[in-house]
Amino acid sequence: MHDKIYPVSDDWAKRAQIDEPTYRAMYQRSVADPDGFWAEQAKRIDWIQPFTKVKNTSFAPDNVSIKWFEDGALNVSANCVDRHLAKRGDQVAILWEGDDPTESRSITYRELSEQVNVFANVLKEMGAKKGDRITIYMPMIPETAFAMLACTRIGAVHSVVFGGFSPDSLAGRIQDCDSKLVITADEGLRAGKKIPLKANVDAALAKLGGDVKTLVVQRTFTDIPMQNGRDVFYGDLAKTVSQHCEPEAMNAEDPLFILYTSGSTGKPKGVLHTTGGYLVYASLTHSKVFDYQDGDIYWCTADVGWVTGHSYIVYGPLSNGATTLMFEGVPTYPTNSRFWEVIDKHQVNIFYTAPTAIRALMQAGDEPVKKTSRASLRLLGSVGEPINPEAWEWYHRVVGDDRCPIVDTWWQTETGGILITPLPGAIGQKPGSATLPFFGVQPAIVDGEGKVLEGVAEGNLIITDSWPGQMRSIYGDHARFMETYFSTYKNAYFTGDGCRRDADGYYWITGRVDDVLNVSGHRMGTAEVESALVAHEHVSEAAVVGYPHDIKGQGIYAYVTLMAGAEASDTLRKELVAWVRTEIGPIASPDLIQFAPGLPKTRSGKIMRRILRKIAEGEFGNLGDTSTLADPAVVDDLVANRQNKR
Ligand code: ATP
Ligand code: MG
Repeated sequence: MHDKIYPVSDDWAKRAQIDEPTYRAMYQRSVADPDGFWAEQAKRIDWIQPFTKVKNTSFAPDNVSIKWFEDGALNVSANCVDRHLAKRGDQVAILWEGDDPTESRSITYRELSEQVNVFANVLKEMGAKKGDRITIYMPMIPETAFAMLACTRIGAVHSVVFGGFSPDSLAGRIQDCDSKLVITADEGLRAGKKIPLKANVDAALAKLGGDVKTLVVQRTFTDIPMQNGRDVFYGDLAKTVSQHCEPEAMNAEDPLFILYTSGSTGKPKGVLHTTGGYLVYASLTHSKVFDYQDGDIYWCTADVGWVTGHSYIVYGPLSNGATTLMFEGVPTYPTNSRFWEVIDKHQVNIFYTAPTAIRALMQAGDEPVKKTSRASLRLLGSVGEPINPEAWEWYHRVVGDDRCPIVDTWWQTETGGILITPLPGAIGQKPGSATLPFFGVQPAIVDGEGKVLEGVAEGNLIITDSWPGQMRSIYGDHARFMETYFSTYKNAYFTGDGCRRDADGYYWITGRVDDVLNVSGHRMGTAEVESALVAHEHVSEAAVVGYPHDIKGQGIYAYVTLMAGAEASDTLRKELVAWVRTEIGPIASPDLIQFAPGLPKTRSGKIMRRILRKIAEGEFGNLGDTSTLADPAVVDDLVANRQNKR
C-alpha cells in the first residue's frame, strides 16, 4: 500500500480545536489518568445528579462489567434539546432534505423542543414507560429523530430497525427485545419509490401475534388499513396531549438503546448501549473528529437505522447544539450529482459518508461532481469499510478539490463512537489508514495466540481497556456478549478486525479476521488485494475471498465491478492478474476473476464476503443468513456466472 502522507495544513492546524501537540498531550493524559480525563470531559454534558465515580470496568473473562459515571443521573433529550434553547432557540437543529429535491424543512431547536415534548407525551398516552423497549421502523424524516429523543425523554429504550428490512427481519428484532410498541410511517420514499412501511409492520405483527401496538406517522398520507385498538395515527394523538413533558432523570448506566449490528458476518447481535458514557463519548467525538464549530452545517449521509445515524446524525450533533442535515433519499436520485447538489443548496461544510457510496459515484466519473461548486466544503469523512486508497484519492481530489482533509473513522456498532481516526488539525492522513486512536482508546495488535505485537506489526485488533461509549452487553444475553468479545483474547475486547501498524504507528484495517486469506502459508487481509484491484483504471469495486486450492491451500477468487464504459474480457482478466502481481507481488495474484455487475452487500452497503466465499467454494445451497442482504438478486447473477477452477 502506498504510504503517501497528506500533512495537516497550516490553516487547519490554526483553526482546529486540537492541533498535534494538544492531541499528543491529551492522548497521553487520557490513558495515564482515565478517571481525571473523563471526569473533565464529562462536563460537556449536563448532569441532573453529578457523578462521583468515573470508571469502573473489568474485562476479566467470565466477569465482564462496564460502568461509567455510575452514580450520576442525566437525561439525553434535555442535553440534546432543552439546554440549547436559551442560546440557540432560533438556530436550525435539523435541516431536512427530502427525496424529492424540491422538498426540504428546517427545524429550529425551539421547534425540536416542542415536537419532542409532544411526542414524549404521545408515547406515554400509548402506555409506554421507563425501561420499555420501543421499536422504531421509520423512513429518514425528522419525526424519526423526534421519536428517538422522545423515548430518551421518558426513559424508554429504543431499537431502531432500518426501514429497508423485510417483515421477517423486523419481526425477529421486535421479538428479540420484546417490544410492545412499534413506531412507523404509512410509507417511506426513496429514489421516487414508495416503501410500504406500515404494511411491512402488519406482516411482521401477523407473525408475532400478541399485544404489540403501532403508532403511525403520516409521510405520504396514502390510504392504509388501520386495525382498531392496535394502530393509532400519531397526528390524532398529538392534538390531544399536553405540550410539556418533564424529562426523566436516568441513571448513567440505564439502557439508552438497543441496535442490531449490520450482519456482515452472521446473525445480527442486539447491541446494548447505556446513557451517560454513550452520550459523553458521542458528543466528544463528534466535536473533535469533525472539528465542529458554531454555525457549521454538518451532514452525515448514514441512515438512522445504523449506529452512524444514532451517534453522528442525532446524539453527537444535537448534544453539541449543531445543525445536522438529514437526507431522505439516495446518492443517485434523481441524478449522480445529488450529494453535491445538496451540499451546494445547504452550504454544507462537513460531509461524512461511506466507501460504498464513494465507489459508486466514482464509477460514474468526475463530471457529475465537477459541475457543482462544493466551495462550502471544508472536511470530508468516511466510515463503514476500509476505504481503498484509490477511492480516497478520488474523494480528496475530485470531491474535495484537494482542499479538504479526510477523516477515515474506524469504529463499530459495539463501540458507540469513533475509536481510530485522524483529527483534522492534528494528524496527517495516509489514504486507506484510519491513523491513530482517539482519546482513551488503547488499541493493540495480537497474533493468533494472543501475544501482543509491538512496533510494525500485522495481526488481530484488540482494545485493551474500556472507553465510555463501549457497549455494555448483548440485550438479554450477557453470556453471549462475554463469549463473542472477551473470550478470544484474555482481558481485552476483540474487534473481529485484522489490522496492520506501520512505522509511524498508524493503524490500517486489513479486513475482517474471518475473511483473512491464507495462500501458500502467507496470511493476507482482503483490503490490500481489493485496493490493488480498485487502483486499476477500469475497476470501480472489488471483493476477494479464498477458495480451496490443491497446491496453495487457498486460492484467491476476485469479484470485480468495472467502471462505466469498461468492457469485461479475457484480456482484461489477464491484465488485472498482472497488475496485482506488480502492485503487491506474485503471492497476491488472483487465481480466478469474475466480472460482476454488483456485489452482495448488507443494507448499510458493506460487502458480504461470507456469501462470496460460499459461491467461490461452490456451496450454493448453504449461503447462511441472507436476511440482511440489500439485493438478493445480485446473488443469482453471481452464482450463474461463477468461474470454474481451471
Ligand atoms: P456484524 O457485526 O453483524 O457482522 P458489521 O460488523 O458489519 O455486522 P457494523 O458495526 O456496522 O456491523 O460494522 C463495523 C465494522 O465495519 C468494523 O468491524 C469494520 O470491519 C468495518 N469498518 C467500519 N469503519 C471502518 C473503517 N473506517 N475502516 C475499515 N473498516 C471499517
Ligand atoms: Mg461487526
